[in-house]
Amino acid sequence: MSVADMRIKENDLLIRLRDRLTRAIEHGRSDRWCLALWSRFIRARDGYQCIVCDSDDRIEAHHVFRRTLVPRARYETGNGITLCRKCHKVAHEGFNGRPDLSLPIGAQGGDDQDEIAFYYLKLLEAAEARDLAHDEFYAFSNEMLYFFVKVQGFEQFYWRVQEKEITGLIMAYNIWRRAPEKMTMAVLRANLPEFF
Ligand SMILES: [Zn+2]
Ligand SMILES: [Zn+2]
Repeated sequence: MSVADMRIKENDLLIRLRDRLTRAIEHGRSDRWCLALWSRFIRARDGYQCIVCDSDDRIEAHHVFRRTLVPRARYETGNGITLCRKCHKVAHEGFNGRPDLSLPIGAQGGDDQDEIAFYYLKLLEAAEARDLAHDEFYAFSNEMLYFFVKVQGFEQFYWRVQEKEITGLIMAYNIWRRAPEKMTMAVLRANLPEFF
């Protein structure tokens, strides 16, 4: 079988897994069932390998954003990343207690903005290497994308996704690798007063 044929086969399998997940959500199947399908899709999409270190030791699908932050993002494919046991432990180390949404992410020592940006960079690289369409396999609801804007600012990214100029995955990486808009503007103002 040629590489191109293998890619088509792999794509078909991923579409089938994703559609099963979509149907399960639509039909109101149990949380446990939907999560199992979500996890199965994420691991297959990532080639059954840790996205951070390539290990295949006890891989698990990890939520980049916890459901307490964005309830709907529980089954979104743009919110999943495959991690090995070791990298998964690292991902959960920082978290303590409930998040305060009025604080920037990372302020409570929980979700680390650099870590989020790093995961989305790795997913972008994997999508490129495996030739996977962002909108098919790394999908974000508008609710999720707008949550990013609420926390970080930079609303223009949201509108560029709506205009299909960039994908949700590209927005996710770009918005999280930046300091929040207010902080960015304050730094600019301090350093380039002539522009304000
Ligand atoms: Zn790993
Ligand atoms: Zn996890």
